[in-house]
Amino acid sequence: MKKVYNFNAGPAALPKEVLQKAQSELLNYQETGLSVMELSHRSPHYEQIQHNATELLKKLMNIPENYEVLYMQGGASLQFSAVPLNFLPSDQTANYCLTGSWSEKALKEAKRVGNTHIAATSKEQNYTHIPNSLNLSDNPAYLHITSNNTIFGTQWKSTPSIPSSIPLIADMSSDILSKQIRIEDYSLIYAGAQKNLGPSGVTVVIIKKDLLEQCSTNLPTMLNYQTYAKNNSLYNTPPTFSIYMLSLVLDWVEKQGGITKIEQINGEKANTLYHVIDSSNGFYHGPARKDSRSYMNVTFTLPTEELTTTFLQQAKEHGFVGLAGHRLIGGCRASIYNAVPIEDCKELAKFMEQFRTNFM
Ligand code: PMP
Repeated sequence: MKKVYNFNAGPAALPKEVLQKAQSELLNYQETGLSVMELSHRSPHYEQIQHNATELLKKLMNIPENYEVLYMQGGASLQFSAVPLNFLPSDQTANYCLTGSWSEKALKEAKRVGNTHIAATSKEQNYTHIPNSLNLSDNPAYLHITSNNTIFGTQWKSTPSIPSSIPLIADMSSDILSKQIRIEDYSLIYAGAQKNLGPSGVTVVIIKKDLLEQCSTNLPTMLNYQTYAKNNSLYNTPPTFSIYMLSLVLDWVEKQGGITKIEQINGEKANTLYHVIDSSNGFYHGPARKDSRSYMNVTFTLPTEELTTTFLQQAKEHGFVGLAGHRLIGGCRASIYNAVPIEDCKELAKFMEQFRTNFM
């Protein structure tokens, strides 16, 4: 098989060992004679898979007892609606930090539900950095941030400091499990799985129990977080195969040495690529301000559109997949989630240096 370096933004690279393990059990899961996809979601085998995933996630992320882990569907995009539907009463205001296209989309959905306020934004600077001051509205229902901006390549380096009485809600779709965080700083975290957690199909929600108690009572059953909490995320059929894959990915993270080790390697991977950009005499330009650079999505441009096209074409010929920037902003982007090996980042760095010397 041709060697491919996968820098896709999501769905993204999965650890090879995980795919091999899934392959080895695909037709006969633990001597059941059935594939995981064929097991009942009420069977003890499946219940054990989901239980393992939850326990491992709690262990790896240090999730305290007063939080629930829920498995939902509809992607992070459904969370854009579920959050305000559950937690934005008509006499309060939802606060949003606008740091890119995904937070714009989250805000758009909140506007459909009730009062909103932009507490901080870097829109005027083309989302090249994370704002460092906040201006909260009166009577805020919550503050929403996007911890990593997948399209623009910026990332929050610390949690915004707000009074503990205001729930902090974070879309962590593109950096969950990539670095240590203090769960206690957040009331709700959500993440579509298809970057650091597994294949698409499942959305992980980590929610503080006291926030759960505040869910609106007036919602369709499947939009109410309490439905998932009360039924162990088994009110209806969950995405069983995606949750199985999540459990394998979490096993893999643990075997790597947990999040501390993963974080260290992620830093080395990102620095390998940012170093090429910074030492290219301006040939490669990283639009993200240095203090806001993402360790998950490295965005860069070349001097001209033609060079960008040639770069992407040649990269493809060398086996580098997924390097085109998001269709909204163009340029290039290397997504280097947990499962992307450091060796692949070094290969890309070599290729970028070679390409530059050929064209300078
Ligand atoms: N938020 C962020 C930060 C994302 O990167 C994405 C997807 N790339 C989304 C939300 C949307 O996720 P989904 O496709 O799971 O709805």
